[in-house]
Amino acid sequence: MTDVVPLGQPTVGEEELAAIAEVFTTGWLSGAGPSCRAFEQAFAATVGTAHALATSNCGSALHLGLEVLGAGPGDEVIVGDYTFPATGHSVMWTGATPVFADVRPDIWSADPAAVEAAITPRTVGILAVDPFGQPADYDELRAIADKHGLWLMEDAACSAGATYKGRPAGSLADVATFSFHGRKGITAGEGGALVTDRTDLADHARKLHTYGIEPALTREASTDLPVPSFDEAGYNYRLSDVAAAIMQVQLRRLPTLLANRRRAAAEYAELLGDLELVTLPVELADREHPWQSYVITLDPSLDRGVVATELRARGVQCNFGTYASHLQPVYGLKQQLPVSADLFARHLAVPMHANLTSEQVRTVATAVRDVVTAPTSRR
Ligand SMILES: *Cc1c(COP(=O)(O)O)cnc(C)c1O
Repeated sequence: MTDVVPLGQPTVGEEELAAIAEVFTTGWLSGAGPSCRAFEQAFAATVGTAHALATSNCGSALHLGLEVLGAGPGDEVIVGDYTFPATGHSVMWTGATPVFADVRPDIWSADPAAVEAAITPRTVGILAVDPFGQPADYDELRAIADKHGLWLMEDAACSAGATYKGRPAGSLADVATFSFHGRKGITAGEGGALVTDRTDLADHARKLHTYGIEPALTREASTDLPVPSFDEAGYNYRLSDVAAAIMQVQLRRLPTLLANRRRAAAEYAELLGDLELVTLPVELADREHPWQSYVITLDPSLDRGVVATELRARGVQCNFGTYASHLQPVYGLKQQLPVSADLFARHLAVPMHANLTSEQVRTVATAVRDVVTAPTSRR
């Protein structure tokens, strides 16, 4: 029985357990408390923004971001097509319409020319996605946004630790959102964050994330008895203080986790670089990829289903990449975005996480080489 090489794996242990125990002693387990506040300060410092708001997940952070930027019924938001559909869904939650833009064939983020071509009089903003964490073309997207009077948002769900021209992911747009789901680079099981430099947006998002009133922690400081009144139907999008304690530890681990993923990515490149039947993922010279996933593109002559089944039979977990949003029936679209559709059909994610050993990388690389060169893997 061979050991299975998992596709992803969180790095959590004694330090996280100790942090949880410490929160238990404070008695503040619900959200928006002292542990969340400490995490938010540390996260804003890491990302280089003035504000960070801890949220229940990235979807809720996306929803808050779009809402405070003013997206609503009748509006169109241009979205990078190749993404987990939380991005498109969050636009729908505001009543606005997602309009998907095709992506670059090399790094899979929104092609700035496609974004500009998708602008109509109803367009209010651009929601760019950093696929598997590598940042999109923010200089070009910012220029387009400014030229047309649009706002710019970054779905940085997978981007913790990434950089673009030396600037951290999360600081590249008006608002950015992160995910701390178990499959992301740093995790509390579930969780997310909204970051921004704009105090007005941060304050509004904070209010909306706790049903539309000031968080209890803010009111606690008051000397009299402030009774809040509700003038907006907000949500409960809080991260619990227990999860925030885990996130404080994860944030301290981030440099080590990134270094381990980088090492594994370099080893894959070394071991598979000559294999003609697969195209390896690229990291552009002006950005740092956090390698949330390692996704290879199979040659069109290969049958991805057979390749995946054979890899799994050898104990190597794998999966498709992410989704071509415009092909999802929920959006009811007749758009044709050939680059994204092609990636959706040919991508294969192979094991990538911070616990991956060099030996496991070799096991995966050998299996990939054997399987894709086998005649039975041809269509
Ligand atoms: C994972 C992911 C999300 C959703 O994150 P949740 O925290 O599960 O809501 C959104 N966008 C992208 C690009 C993702 O990869």
